Amino acid sequence: MLISLFDEKFRISGESFFDYFSCKTRLWMESRNIDGDFDSNEHIKLGKFIDESTFRREKHRLQIPGICSIDFIKTDSGFLEIHEVKKGKKVSKPQIMQTMYYIYILNEITGKECVGFLHLPEARKKIEIKLNEELIRGSLKEISEVINNDCPKPEIKAICRGCSYNHMCWG
Ligand code: SF4
Repeated sequence: MLISLFDEKFRISGESFFDYFSCKTRLWMESRNIDGDFDSNEHIKLGKFIDESTFRREKHRLQIPGICSIDFIKTDSGFLEIHEVKKGKKVSKPQIMQTMYYIYILNEITGKECVGFLHLPEARKKIEIKLNEELIRGSLKEISEVINNDCPKPEIKAICRGCSYNHMCWG
C-alpha cells in the first residue's frame, strides 16, 4: 500500500488529508499546485509563527517530500511519538486526520508502534491520537478519487473567509 502512495501521480500528503476533511475544492487545487494567495494569508502567517516559536528544543522535524512534514518526533516512551503543533483553541477533524495519517505512514515505514499527539499551544492542550487503519485506507481511496477527477464545485463554508483560494472561488 505504501509503495503505491509514493508512486501516485499526485502524492497524497498529510496536507491532502487536512484539505480533504476541510474542503474538497481546496484539495483538488492544492494537488495541481495552483497558486493561492499564500504569502499574504494571515492564518498561514499565524500558523507559521506558532510552529516556529513553540517546542524549539524538541524540534526534530521529519520530512518525506510530498508525503509528510512532521513537526517533531520522540522515542523516550518506547513508542515512536509523532507530534504536530497547530493553531487554534479547538481540535478539528482535519488536524486529527492529518496526524493519524502520519502515524499510519511511520508505522508502515518502521513497523514500530506509533502514537500521535496534537498540540494546541493557544489552548494549552495536548491530545493523543490513535491510528484507525480502516479509516485511513478508506480516506486514501476517497482522496484519490477527488484528485483524479474534475475539480469539485466550491461550497461556501466558514473557512472560506481565511482561505488562500477565496479570490478564485468567490472573487
Ligand atoms: S474558498 Fe472555500 S470553497 Fe474555495 S477552496 Fe477555500 S475553503 Fe474551499
